[in-house]
Amino acid sequence: MPTDEKNARWVCLECHYIYDPAKGDPKNGIPAGTPWSEVPDTWRCPECKILKAKKGVFKRLDD
Ligand SMILES: [Zn+2]
Repeated sequence: MPTDEKNARWVCLECHYIYDPAKGDPKNGIPAGTPWSEVPDTWRCPECKILKAKKGVFKRLDD
């Protein structure tokens, strides 16, 4: 399956947590199937608690 914006995974460069849209982050109010672009800027990495809105922390995985 080709990677597009909707199913792209993003990695937190602080702790290497991977956000996978197929799983979401239900514990933190993000239902499975939520693309990265629809995760609110107020969301925090569940591992290191850094804000999504912080620039340069999350990087798209292109594999
Ligand atoms: Zn993190």
